[in-house]
Parts: sequence; structure tokens; C-alpha cells
Amino acid sequence: MIDNKQFYINGAWVNPTTARDYPVIDPATEEQVAIISLGDQADTDAAVAAAGAAFADWSTRPVADRIAMVEKVMQVYEARAAEMGEAIRQEMGAPHDLAHGSQAPCLPWALEDAVAAADKIHWDAPLGDGTPGAHILHEAIGVVGLITPWNWPISQIALKVFPAMIAGCTMVLKPSEEAPLSGLLFADIMHQAGVPAGVFNMVNGDGPGVGQQLSTHEDIAMISFTGSTRAGRLISKAAAETLKQVRLELGGKGANVVFADAADNAVEKGVRHCMNNSGQSCNAPTRMLVEASRYDAAVAEATEVAASIKVGPTTEAGRHMGPVVNKTQWEKIQGMIQVGIDEGARMTTGGTGLPENVNRGFYVKPTIFADVTNDMRVAQEEIFGPVLVMIPFKDEADAIRIANDTPYGLTNYVQSKDGPKRNRMARALKAGMIEMNHQSRGNGAPFGGIKLSGLAREGGVWGIEEYLVSKSISGWD
Ligand code: NAD
Repeated sequence: MIDNKQFYINGAWVNPTTARDYPVIDPATEEQVAIISLGDQADTDAAVAAAGAAFADWSTRPVADRIAMVEKVMQVYEARAAEMGEAIRQEMGAPHDLAHGSQAPCLPWALEDAVAAADKIHWDAPLGDGTPGAHILHEAIGVVGLITPWNWPISQIALKVFPAMIAGCTMVLKPSEEAPLSGLLFADIMHQAGVPAGVFNMVNGDGPGVGQQLSTHEDIAMISFTGSTRAGRLISKAAAETLKQVRLELGGKGANVVFADAADNAVEKGVRHCMNNSGQSCNAPTRMLVEASRYDAAVAEATEVAASIKVGPTTEAGRHMGPVVNKTQWEKIQGMIQVGIDEGARMTTGGTGLPENVNRGFYVKPTIFADVTNDMRVAQEEIFGPVLVMIPFKDEADAIRIANDTPYGLTNYVQSKDGPKRNRMARALKAGMIEMNHQSRGNGAPFGGIKLSGLAREGGVWGIEEYLVSKSISGWD
């Protein structure tokens, strides 16, 4: 039985040094489901010290041993995945099928990806022909601080913890205070799997508290952060004094470029993708750019699809949409829907207020804005809710111009049956990831953005390399 108020430090559950209660609210019911404690400097220091003490042993173990440890976590998780689905459902409001079928399975996906990638890393290798005695080692960077968001909570944790462990790093995780139950359960699973004391530590806390303490800590070599661009900036500033590495996975405003020759179901898939997880995905295709000749039909179709998406209880099975994470986000999204109305965008379905069939919970109506121009705030700002904006374009060059006219650069999408055109678009679009014809990224491909979407890569060999530094040696025997 997990005591939600405790932290996991040096292989044991410990009480916070100072009690600072923080409620966990189920966004579907608005009821309190747990109380956690927010950590203090002393808790952060204890966790960092434990990670520091474990580093010498863990970082010098053979890679195969570290992988074997990670694989034990997988075995434990298999029996506890349903608990994880429940934790995520309650803490952030993913409906049953999404929580159990998409959110919870992210852990094994990330874990298997990291294990597969480990084989491809040149851990210890000669520099190459013509440079006798020159040798390169790739070594763990040190103690790392991992700060994660609430929207895909276990995915973000797994995408950091397993590559860091395989690389030989020891770590302190600070999960989102809005979705801490999955992090608590994760720590329990790590304990059950027998991860050596100090390798993995977990302290709950908020951004200005434990988040800031990790970012400024002189014994932390690197911060891996996933979250908002706002917090990414604050962390970069906080980390500057100690010159630690900072890896940022931030927000997005993905363009989904639908050409006239796109598949018949391209618009429907685009709408459903945008609304998935109540629109709370950094890589959501939230700006649908449609070629002029197909635009009116696309607006009608998108409206029909969005209007057919029902919201409902997270306890029920089915493809319905859940609430957004909390009251603050609900109010922010309501505000942005009003901004769209005030800016003169044509709202074809949705709008402000609760959906008709609910009277509590942070539910938002799936909303479509047509005839949006790319300079409107609803086209430029990340709304992080079930709101899609639709913008017409004339031709390929126009689509590229509009798609790239954003401060973000995470994932852009292209729908067309014309292969050479897709390839031209993929080269021209400014983003870390381009997904075309609804084909998702291949296994082992890196995830990450450019511009205000961040500076990091997770997944595959790139995800492990984030936690490594090269050591250049000459005179190697
Ligand atoms: P957030 O930035 O508010 O919080 C994320 C984490 O950072 C939390 O753990 C929070 O406590 C912590 N934090 C906040 N302020 C901090 C500070 N000053 N110093 C240190 N830590 C701080 O983001 P959120 O609302 O939890 O998540 C939503 C955001 O995350 C969206 O912008 C979304 O696009 C982004 N996101 C990006 C990716 C990606 O891979 N690019 C993935 C998921 C979410």
C-alpha cells in the first residue's frame, strides 16, 4: 500500500521533512482522490545525495547488467499495468480505454525501445582507421533531474528513466504535482523490481519548489524536462549558474496539411487525432490547413466528426472523450475559445461552457474554428484542449508558409497521395517530426522539436545519447 505523502529516496519510502499537503483531484468528478506532499529543499538534497552516492557503482556496471535490471522492471510492470491505468484515469481524467489501452502501455513501449537502442550505442570503441591509440568512451553524464508533465504521465517518466538507467545515470524524478499517482506507483514498481538503492529516487513537488531546487542543484549534471515552454525558459535560466545541461521537450502547435488529393478519411482522422486525450498532447495536429478546393467540404466534415464526439465518465469503456486535467486548464481553454470568437473566427461546433450531458467535471466541448487566419491567437498559441482551427491554403508554397509561421516546431503532418509532393513537404516543413498519411513514427525514431518546442530528443539511440558524454582518449592500448 503506497503512502501518497511519502517520497522514494535511497531505496526506501520516507516521510517529507516538512508536511506540505497537496490534493489530487479527479477531473471527471472534481472529488479529491488522494493527498500528496510537496517536497522541500531538504527532501531534494537527500534524494540528490542518494543518487550521487549510487553513481560510482551503477555507472560502472556492465551495460548488460543495467539492461537486465530494466527488464526486471518490465516483468513487475506486466502484473501492475492495470493499476497504472487506474492511477492515470483518476489523476488526469483519461477515460478507461485511453488510460488502459494507450497511456499505461507507453511504459513497455518506451522500455523496449530503450533496450533495443542500447545495442546500437558505441559505448567503447576506437575512433577509427588512421588514428591508432585514439579511443572514444561514452559515459554516463552523472546524476540527472527528471521533471515531467501530467498529460502522458507514465510515457514521459518512462521515456526518461529507462534511457537514463541504461546510460548509467542515477536520478531524481519529480513527476507533475497534477498527476502524481502514476509516479508514486512507478516508484513502487521500481522498488519491487529491486532497482539498487539510490539509482532511482522520486520526490513530489511543484515547479517553484522541487523543480527549481533540482534545476539549481550543483550536484545535478543535467535536467531532462518535458512540459510547457514557459517552464522550460525558467529551468534554463535557473540551470545557467551551475552550467548543467538542459534538455527540453516543450509545447507545439502542429500543422496538419491536407491536400485536395488526400485520402477520403484524412479530415476525420485529423480531427480525431487533435481531440485525442482531450486535445492535451504536445504533438496534437491543432491547425488543419486544407487546400482551397477541398476546404468547404473539409469544414463540414470536421464539424460533423467533432459534433459526434461525446464526452463522458472516465469509468466507462468506449471511445468517448474525458475531461481536461484541472480547473485552471478548463478556464484557460474557455478563455481561448472566447478569444477565437472575439477574433472573428467562425465557430462551427462546440463553444464555451460545459457539454450538455454533464453538470460537473472539467469537460470541454470539442470545438472547431473555421476561416481562421494564421495570425489569430487561436492559430498561434497552444490551447491544450479539444480545439481545432481550420485554415485554407492556395498551393504547396502557401501551405509551407502558413505551416512554418509559428514559434513552435514539434510535429507537422501531411496528407496527400502524391509521394514526391509529400517528400518535398517533409523537407520544407520546420519541425522535429513530420508524420505523413497518418503513419506514426517508426520504432526507434527520435521524438523532439525545434524552435520553442525544445531542444531534446527522446526515444531510440538519441534518447540514450542525451544521458551520455563522450570521453576522447589517446594512447589507448
Ligand atoms: P508545466 O510546464 O506546467 O509543468 C511540467 C512540469 O514542470 C511539472 O512537473 C511542473 O511541476 C514542473 N515545473 C513547472 N514550473 C517549473 C519551474 N519553474 N522549474 C522547474 N519545474 C517546473 O507543463 P504541464 O502543464 O504539466 O504540461 C503541459 C505542457 O507540456 C504543454 O505545453 C505540452 O505541450 C508540454 N508537453 C511537451 C511534450 C514534448 O515531448 N514536447 C510532451 C508532453 C507535454
